[in-house]
Amino acid sequence: MSATQTLPTAPTDAIAGRPSVLVVGAGPVGLALACELIIGGAEVTVISKDRRVGPHSRATILWPRILELLDRIGVAETLVAHGHYFDQMNYYSEKKRIGLIRFDRLPAVGYPFAITIPQWKTESILESHLTALGGTVLYGRELVDGAQTANMVTARISHDGHTSAERFDWVVGSDGYASSVRARFGFDFAGHALETKLAITDAELIGEHTTSEAAYYLTRHGNMVLAPLGDGIFRVGASVPAGTSGPVPDREFFETLLKQRVPGRKRLGQMNFSGVFTANIRTASTFRRGRVFLAGDAAHAMSPSGAQGLNTGLQDAVNLGWKLAGVARGDYPPELLDSYDTERRPAVAAVSGLSTQLAHISLYSSRPKIAIRDTLYRLGSATGTLESMLAPKLAQIDTHYGRRPRSKSALIRGQRLPLGWRHTPTAPVLAVDRHTILLWPGHSYHHAEWCALTEAVRAARPDTTVHDLGGNPAGGLTPYLTEAPHVIVARPDGHVEDTFALPADATAAVTAICAALYPPLSTKRNTLPGTATSLSATA
Ligand SMILES: Cc1cc2nc3c(=O)[nH]c(=O)nc-3n(C[C@H](O)[C@H](O)[C@H](O)COP(=O)(O)OP(=O)(O)OC[C@H]3O[C@@H](n4cnc5c(N)ncnc54)[C@H](O)[C@@H]3O)c2cc1C
Repeated sequence: MSATQTLPTAPTDAIAGRPSVLVVGAGPVGLALACELIIGGAEVTVISKDRRVGPHSRATILWPRILELLDRIGVAETLVAHGHYFDQMNYYSEKKRIGLIRFDRLPAVGYPFAITIPQWKTESILESHLTALGGTVLYGRELVDGAQTANMVTARISHDGHTSAERFDWVVGSDGYASSVRARFGFDFAGHALETKLAITDAELIGEHTTSEAAYYLTRHGNMVLAPLGDGIFRVGASVPAGTSGPVPDREFFETLLKQRVPGRKRLGQMNFSGVFTANIRTASTFRRGRVFLAGDAAHAMSPSGAQGLNTGLQDAVNLGWKLAGVARGDYPPELLDSYDTERRPAVAAVSGLSTQLAHISLYSSRPKIAIRDTLYRLGSATGTLESMLAPKLAQIDTHYGRRPRSKSALIRGQRLPLGWRHTPTAPVLAVDRHTILLWPGHSYHHAEWCALTEAVRAARPDTTVHDLGGNPAGGLTPYLTEAPHVIVARPDGHVEDTFALPADATAAVTAICAALYPPLSTKRNTLPGTATSLSATA
C-alpha cells in the first residue's frame, strides 16, 4: 500500500528564485532537454521510472541536423567519437541497385554525414553530459498523476512505495510512447498501427565489411534494411511476412529473409538481441496544455522507415529547451511558449508523412507499382533529384518554422541558418541561450558610420551577441549577403527570427533591430544611445 504525502514545495524555487521545470522521463529526449534547460539557466528536476539497461538498441541513426543541434549543447563530438560514420544510402529493388543518396554533398552543413550509434550509448553519453553540466536524474520515480492551475503544476510522484505531491512551474512529458503525462493531463493521441510487423536484430554479418553506407532492399515479398553499427555489427531490419508467428525471430528467420531479399550470400554471426514490433503512427493533437508540454515519443510516434523518430524528438527538445529556459529566466515573454506547439506539430507532421510514405512505397507488391517506383528511383538517382529531394529531409536540415522560402537565394523567417555554435575561424558563432544579431553592411560602406552603428547596437543590447559581418568571415551565410546593408536575427536554435534591410537612419536601424529581439525594446531598455550619423551605403 502506498502512503501519500504532500510536500509544501513552492512553485518557484525559493533559494535560487527561479521558476522550476519537471522533466518526466530520462530517455534521449528528456536528457537532451534537461541539458538545454540547464545551459539556459533554468531550475530543472529530471525523474525517470527506471534506468534502461540491456543490448536492445532501438534508435540507431543520428542525422546531420541533429548532430549540429547536439553540438550546440557540447555533446556531438563525443557521440561522433563513439558512433559509426556513414554518408550514403543505397536503394535496391529485387537485389538490383535503383538509387543512391549521399549526405557528404549536403550544402553548408556542420556534419556532412550521419552516425549510427545504439540508443543505449546515446543515452549514456547524454546522461554523462547532463551530470557534467551539474544535472542529475532521479531514477525509480514515476509520475502517476497530476493537475494544473493557471500558476503551477502539481505532479504526484511515486517512489519507494510512497507518493508525494510536488509543485513545479512547468512539466514536460518526455516519458515515451506510453506517456503518463499525456494521459494524466488530458492530451489525446490519435492515429493507427501499421499493418506490417517489423523484425529487428543487431548482429554480426559474416563475410560483410563494415561500410559507410546503409541500404534498403525492396522486394515484392517485403523489405530489409542493413545499417552498419561498427565493429562488424549491423542493424538488420525486415518486414515480417504475413502469417509468420512466434515471439522472437531467430537466426534462421533473418538468414532466410537475407537470402530472399539481399544480394550476395550473407549470414549472421553473433546476434545481440532480436524482436518484433508493430509501428504506430500517432500524434498528440497539441503538444502543450497550459503549463504542461509533450516531447519526443510522448508527443508523436512514426514509422521507423527513414529512422526519424528519435531525431524528431531531439528537435522537440531543442525547440522547447531554449524557449522554456528563456521564459524561466524572465528574458522571454511566456507567450513565446505557444510557438512550441505551432512550430513543432507541423514539422513533426511533415517528417511523419515522409516516413509513412517511405514505408508504403517500400512494401509495394504489385508489379506495375514496383516498375513505376523503380523507374522514378533510377531516374531521380541519375539526375540527382532523388538526392536533392530526399537527403535534406532525411538529414532534417530542411526543418523550417513557418512559410517556406520561394527563392533559395534569400533567407526568410524560420529557415535554418547554415551556422553552428562551435568556434571556428571561418564563420560567426551563434549564442546558445539567446538570440544573435548578425549585421551586414552591404558590399560597399562608409567604415566610420558602420562602426558607429554596430557600437550603438551593442550598447542598446549589451546582453546579446552581435556579429559584425563587415570584413569578417560569414561562413555559410556568404551566398545570402546582398548588396544592401541588412540584419539577420538568429534564434538560439539557429533558425532565422527575422531578417530585413537596415533603415538608412542609424537610430531607426537600432530601434528596428531591438524590436526584432525578445523582450521588445520597451520592456528592456527605454532609451537608445544617441546615434548621430545616418547609415549610407556607398556604391
Ligand atoms: C525497436 C525500435 C527501433 C527503433 N529504431 C529507431 C531508429 O532507427 N531511428 C529513430 O530515430 N528512432 C527509432 N526508434 C524510436 C526511438 O527509439 C524513439 O523515438 C525514442 O526512444 C524516443 O525517445 P524518448 O526519449 O522520447 O522516449 P523513450 O526513449 O521511450 O524514453 C522514455 C523514458 O521515460 C521513462 N518513463 C516512462 N514513463 C514514466 C513515468 N510515468 N514517470 C517517469 N518516467 C517515465 C522511461 O523509463 C524512459 O526512460 C525505434 C524504436 C523501437 C522500439
